[in-house]
Amino acid sequence: TAPGSAPEVSDALRVLHRVFGYDSFRGDQQEIIDHVVDGGDALVLMPTGGGKSLCYQIPALVRKGVGVVVSPLIALMQDQVDAMRALGVRAGFLNSTQDMDERRLVEAEFLAGELDLLYLAPERLRVEATLRLLERGTVSLFAIDEAHCVAQWGHDFRPDYLQLSTLHERWPGVPRIALTATATEATHTEIASRLKLQDARHFVASFDRPNIQYRIAPKNEPKRQLLELLRAEHPGDAGVVYCLSRASVEKTTEFLVREGIDAVPYHAGLDARVRAANQSRFLREDGVVVVATIAFGMGIDKPDVRFVAHLDLPKSVEGYYQETGRAGRDGLPSTAWLAYGLQDVVQQRKMIDTSEGDDAHRRRLAAHLEAMLALCETVECRRVRLLEYFGQESNACGNCDTCLTPPESWDGTIAAQKFLSTVVRLKRERNQKFGAGQIIDILLGKKTAKVIQFDHDGLSVFGIGADLREAEWRGVARQLLAQGLLAVEGDYGTLVLTDASAEVLGGRREVPLRRDAAAAAKPAKAAKA
Ligand code: ADP
Ligand code: ZN
Repeated sequence: TAPGSAPEVSDALRVLHRVFGYDSFRGDQQEIIDHVVDGGDALVLMPTGGGKSLCYQIPALVRKGVGVVVSPLIALMQDQVDAMRALGVRAGFLNSTQDMDERRLVEAEFLAGELDLLYLAPERLRVEATLRLLERGTVSLFAIDEAHCVAQWGHDFRPDYLQLSTLHERWPGVPRIALTATATEATHTEIASRLKLQDARHFVASFDRPNIQYRIAPKNEPKRQLLELLRAEHPGDAGVVYCLSRASVEKTTEFLVREGIDAVPYHAGLDARVRAANQSRFLREDGVVVVATIAFGMGIDKPDVRFVAHLDLPKSVEGYYQETGRAGRDGLPSTAWLAYGLQDVVQQRKMIDTSEGDDAHRRRLAAHLEAMLALCETVECRRVRLLEYFGQESNACGNCDTCLTPPESWDGTIAAQKFLSTVVRLKRERNQKFGAGQIIDILLGKKTAKVIQFDHDGLSVFGIGADLREAEWRGVARQLLAQGLLAVEGDYGTLVLTDASAEVLGGRREVPLRRDAAAAAKPAKAAKA
């Protein structure tokens, strides 16, 4: 360049400045965008908040034609389109929520070349008429958002995504960019093969979210524990509290409101207007806490969510990562807190046993749960284990509960033998099965009404576990379940032995256990280096 002349500015950078008002690209954005602008296929793995949207929005604006964005987030399409329009980008969407007139209007705009971006629900592409419509216009690129939905191995499979594999046959010259914020190595490989993206360039960003402090606490009185967390560390902060059921969403909201927290509920059973109003309060006002089922959050872009709390165990590490990833998009210190207990394991094992679908499906669910349990029970750095799950190596972080207060492990072999023996006695001597509560009462030698009713104080194992406290026995039971040394059966959470139990009872297997932090102990405050 001649001295004094302006440096060359790419079209992509110009769009970044003029349309989006940002100064520079982040991470791999520039490379990804250049690659797609040049007509290359891409598979992008980038954590939530990493800036995936620009990776297809900018190429769609730079290339000739309309960028078609396939997204399962139908409820958010209107918002996404409004946000684009506010920036002066010509955007529209087609999904099942529209009537014929609305659809016709968007189709006409598409054909007239009056759109830059067209958002499509995946089921639209099952309709031949939609495919023919796309053929009559000019498509600049296909963006496949939430691409993990194509993977059966993942946690969010959508059958409608499978047909996206045919896009490149019908439009061989149109670049495709698939994006996801969650992919283990297995899911990554499956996305590539199902979408025929093996030859695409793969961009894999680090999944670390250093500003999030991960903490997993033993569940005692979950609502109280949550309240303590909010009062001690997050007064007046915006946050999300995830519960498994609608009923517990309602109960938890009522509890928090009673305690003076500005909390609102969100679940699929609420009236659509109430849901929208609660979501909008969370997005627009400061310091609102949403108590929600996992129906809440996909695509929600609020930068200053200071904490995400789980009152129930997520079903998979991917789900946990995605949900906790909604905290701290602005890069400021944030908390991911999960309360986890014996009942979670019992309940989820039961749900898997009774779930619909074939054996392969149940095996997948079980493998997801095992990985989640391993993360909960680890004595190592949570972040190391979490990243390892996504195939990425890292060092102990100094900003998770196990780094800040390293848990002790102890030899639980004898305790395990006592617990398992009690299960054996009940079966052999009485032909009975019971849940953890009764077994623990027997071990502790408690003469409860139920112990007396069943004459359990006459068992030889009665009182043999008085050396441990009740909470400690609950920890033992939980970990035996998590390690597959016990199993749950039937509707009442009754406990039975597994093949591996015999090894413990026969003294051929040791049982290392994690000592739970005392219920009342406060977690160390973020000591971020
Ligand atoms: P993702 O889809 O990966 O979760 P988004 O595309 O929603 O992330 O981006 C997250 C936030 O970061 C958005 O508010 C977005 O506007 C902002 N952002 C993305 N890229 C940049 C950039 N290069 N400079 C500044 N802000 C950016
Ligand atoms: Zn750590």
